Amino acid sequence: MAGAVIAEPATARRGKGRAGFWRLLLNNRLAACGLLVLMAIVLVALAAPLLPLPDPDLTAPADRLIRPLEPGHPLGTDALGRDILSRLIWGTRVSLAVGISATLIAAVLGSLIGLVAGYAGGRVDSLLMRGIDMIMAFPYILLALAIVAVLGPGLLNALYAIAVVNIPFFARNIRGITLGLARREFVDAARLSGKSHVRILLGEILPNVLPVIVITMSTTVGWMILETAGLSFLGLGAQPPQADLGSMLGEGRGVLFTAPHVAIVPGLLIFALVMSINLAGDGVRDVLDPRLRSGALTRPVARTEIARARVPEASPAPGAMLDVQGLRTEFAIGGEIHRAVGGVDLALGRGECLGLVGESGSGKSVTAMSIMGLVPTPPGRIAGGAALLDGEDLFSMPDERIRRLRGSEVAHVFQDPLSTLHPLFTVGDQIVEAIRAHGSLDRRSAEARALDLLALVRIPNPAERSRAYPHELSGGMRQRVCIAMALANDPRILIADEPTTALDVTVQARILALMERLRRERDAAVLFITHDFGVVSTICDRVAVMYAGRVVETGPTQAILDAPAHPYTARLIACVPVLGEPGRRLDAIPGRPPMANRLPDGCAFAPRCPRATPECREGEIGLVPGEAGRAVRCLHPLGPGEGPGGGAGETAGEPA
Ligand code: ADP
Ligand code: MG
Repeated sequence: MAGAVIAEPATARRGKGRAGFWRLLLNNRLAACGLLVLMAIVLVALAAPLLPLPDPDLTAPADRLIRPLEPGHPLGTDALGRDILSRLIWGTRVSLAVGISATLIAAVLGSLIGLVAGYAGGRVDSLLMRGIDMIMAFPYILLALAIVAVLGPGLLNALYAIAVVNIPFFARNIRGITLGLARREFVDAARLSGKSHVRILLGEILPNVLPVIVITMSTTVGWMILETAGLSFLGLGAQPPQADLGSMLGEGRGVLFTAPHVAIVPGLLIFALVMSINLAGDGVRDVLDPRLRSGALTRPVARTEIARARVPEASPAPGAMLDVQGLRTEFAIGGEIHRAVGGVDLALGRGECLGLVGESGSGKSVTAMSIMGLVPTPPGRIAGGAALLDGEDLFSMPDERIRRLRGSEVAHVFQDPLSTLHPLFTVGDQIVEAIRAHGSLDRRSAEARALDLLALVRIPNPAERSRAYPHELSGGMRQRVCIAMALANDPRILIADEPTTALDVTVQARILALMERLRRERDAAVLFITHDFGVVSTICDRVAVMYAGRVVETGPTQAILDAPAHPYTARLIACVPVLGEPGRRLDAIPGRPPMANRLPDGCAFAPRCPRATPECREGEIGLVPGEAGRAVRCLHPLGPGEGPGGGAGETAGEPA
């Protein structure tokens, strides 16, 4: 998908991102209501000079305290006979302007302090942060009062006071995030490339903290408008005759019992304004948080959602321990459906090793994770098919049974070893946990077993290494720890997702030998995912080649290696270097895999295939069984001895 995103022009992507932002924001009903009310208030306030309103400061002693809904004064008049509607609209302008300016000042100064403190660290950090701590040590409203007392009452001074007391919120928030970012690899890389500190701060770090600044702003604007109103209420902000919402509330206090509308009207508007800002602000926060972005604002659940239109009447293939039939897994992202897996059939017999091969993004990991319901929901869901374990459909089983099967009967080695290990526990503890989650071993025997497992995966000096934290191990060792965890409960089925990709060749060979032994000694079945045909030829009995979410060819490994039938398989095999043939040309496959949300009609490989003809681009192309357990999904399969580019179709196809 990453490749496909790069393929889109940057402008189109930006436009789509913005559209997505608004759609997600408006999906959130509360936020949409808040936004609507806020926009209405802001528009009316902005239009104040154009509206036919009487002068807000014009006193008329004869018209004192007129009730609302009288002709000429829809909201009545105050104690000096001034029109409340006019004062309300002009006052809202003032309150909004002060609140927003104070937020901007606090955001700019606070974020700057936070960025510098977090990036510089050490003494600069201590100095700046102790200053911030000092501001925070005073109750903020007292501090604001003290600042106004020193500067003198007035709207501008109230603005400064409120900006100053809010600087710490921004500074602390941004410092925390900058601290984490400043030690990341991409910042190191920028430093090594010779960028100045200022450019690193502005170019590398600021874009990453910007969403947080916006979120903090959107959630504090309402607060600052309230504080401005508070100061004005006390007579320290807007000075007579100027109106703002707080001073209007203050003026109404004296006549609260004789003419309650004078206080109630601005009070209600303050409530509506702050409430709408907070609701809209919360919505913005939810949309900008990347973890909440991809669809519904819900937490991922423990198991992939099963959304099959109908439950298939599936019967297991004879001799198959695990039989996946017609598996379809989709991701619903922002109204579009990404068909990551579009009808995959796999059968895994006892003691068998099946290789799942394909380019990056072809749907191998999603296929494997769908089996035990490990695809994150949202956005993922299983849209069709069945996965039969000993004839029983895993997708129909209750959650509790799946939980017990995971890691005991069916173990999974995930693709990314660093993100699957807990950073705060030693690897020994994590293996012990994996053992005890399913077994009844006491802690001591579990620890002994953990050491055995570490030795089994060839970690040198297991006793010492088991006390290491994941970050203290190399990538290859972490990979082996994950394999050890997967083996902890003698699984009958091991799903290994590119388990040797991070390893050097010698360790890779050992891990392959280990899996081989596991399968021979314990009769375990292995689903081995890789993009490397070289590895496949070493350990897999059969292989299934995936492209764009479908199996395009399957059969016994040696037969496929000797005579691939699908042009894609032939190209993949041609990409493997052969020892002792340094002069051989290694052709990359031209073009890119299609995007999962825009799969073409017909064969998905047709745009890149030299043998493609017009028929290849229309309709459904089936997986046609051949001899000796082979099957291929191609209208013009290669015959024995034909090269990947050869054949009749070469002239007919136009490479995209
Ligand atoms: P690979 O064959 O390299 O293992 P994957 O199975 O990881 O490929 O991915 C297949 C497709 O599913 C890709 O287009 C990928 O973008 C998409 N995909 C995988 N995981 C997610 C996810 N969590 N959210 C959205 N799309 C995903
Ligand atoms: Mg993968």
